Amino acid sequence: MTTVKIQRQSRATAAKPARIDVTQTEEMQQVLTFFTTEMMSAHEELLKRARALEEANHRLEEIGELKTRLLGDVAHELRTPLTGMMLKLDLIERGKPENQARYVEDVRVQVRRLGQMIENILDMTRIYMTNPAERFVEVDLHALIGETVERKGILARQKDLTVNYLPLPYVPKVRGERDQLERVLENVLGNAIKYTLRGTIDIVLQHDALRSQVCVAVRDTGIGIAPEDLPQLFNRFHRGKLASEAGIDGSGLGLAIVKDILDVHGGHIEVESTPGQGSTFRVWLPTA
Ligand code: ADP
Repeated sequence: MTTVKIQRQSRATAAKPARIDVTQTEEMQQVLTFFTTEMMSAHEELLKRARALEEANHRLEEIGELKTRLLGDVAHELRTPLTGMMLKLDLIERGKPENQARYVEDVRVQVRRLGQMIENILDMTRIYMTNPAERFVEVDLHALIGETVERKGILARQKDLTVNYLPLPYVPKVRGERDQLERVLENVLGNAIKYTLRGTIDIVLQHDALRSQVCVAVRDTGIGIAPEDLPQLFNRFHRGKLASEAGIDGSGLGLAIVKDILDVHGGHIEVESTPGQGSTFRVWLPTA
């Protein structure tokens, strides 16, 4: 009897763990799946944060580098007008009285140039110090070109220049900061008017569907650019030989600002030119 009882008990105990094992395995699997999913999403979140941190670090490094470069460039560039002004002030004090009015006018021109330069430098720092992508909206370049041509047209008419803008029926919008893109167009069209003594300025807006890009080409019949200036044209404070020889005023900052703006918009600018015949600037921007 006793033996049987024991046998029964042992059968029962032998069967029990097998049943419990199945339930436990299922439960454990559920728990494991839960933890694995949790861990995977935590890992993804961690990766996302690490990437954001890396980007922020990169931006900070870029800003740091920009500050250092800007400071060096500015200190260097301020020296020239300041020396010029000191010289003119000396002449006003010690030179012939009949020349005084001319020297005062020279100083005024230099002060105006310095003011312009400071404005441009502030613009440049604004482009990088904040994250412009946060302010990006869809921008209709066709409308923006129309407004810019309207505004700059006054200057062109004063110089007897013809500005043609032939819009295409459909060109997609781009994504960007409207004011900054307006500044790009103002600068490029402004230069075309400034460096063209006679003739025509043609603006063409095109869509390159294959590359998902939009191109604004500004072609002028102006003084042109010497080949040796082309590689440095977008460097801060660089002024072309032909522009200086023609006595046309400028700070050499406009195109550097244009390039900075296009950089943060994922775009770029190209130039081709024949001295004495004219230049074409092409601004490329990705479609929205
Ligand atoms: P700025 O016009 O004030 O000198 P920018 O940075 O706008 O400065 O232009 C840099 C240089 O590029 C100019 O000094 C000039 O030599 C040249 N440049 C720009 N646009 C034109 C143009 N449309 N025709 C001829 N030269 C140009």
